Amino acid sequence: MAQDPDCIFCKIVAGELPSLVVAEDERTVAFLDVNPATPGHTIVVPRDHSADLHAIGAEDLAACAAMGQRVAGLLVDRLDAAGVNLLNNVGAAAWQTVFHFHLHVVPRYADDPLTLPWIPAPGDRDEIGRTHARLTA
Ligand code: 5GP
Ligand code: ZN
Repeated sequence: MAQDPDCIFCKIVAGELPSLVVAEDERTVAFLDVNPATPGHTIVVPRDHSADLHAIGAEDLAACAAMGQRVAGLLVDRLDAAGVNLLNNVGAAAWQTVFHFHLHVVPRYADDPLTLPWIPAPGDRDEIGRTHARLTA
């Protein structure tokens, strides 16, 4: 089992740090976030250490996605969530603070305080075209 001795989530997976586990399977563990965005905010991690989306293997990624789906169902069934956001932060510039891959599974409620973190507005068509060219060249 790949572990990083300095990683908080590896310690949670190993039971060396306490956590409130809501579901687990052979490859993944899902536990409540200590700083919940909303009640029931859950973190899904692979048991094996991978720093982020770029590093994780396809099987662990698929297992995390499946566990995210299972937890989303739990949040709706048990906590009456009206919706769910799945979030994965990749890199410090994208808000990642713990460098062990994880999915945030955030239950949403009609009266919760969360807002979309960007302001939707029509993009410049030429710029979108240039971006497309860079991505597909
Ligand atoms: P990130 O910003 O890396 O995407 O998210 C890391 C998440 O892990 C944060 O939401 C943070 O609250 C949560 N977290 C950090 N340390 C601990 C911990 O020791 N226990 C639990 N349950 N969650 C943690
Ligand atoms: Zn780790």
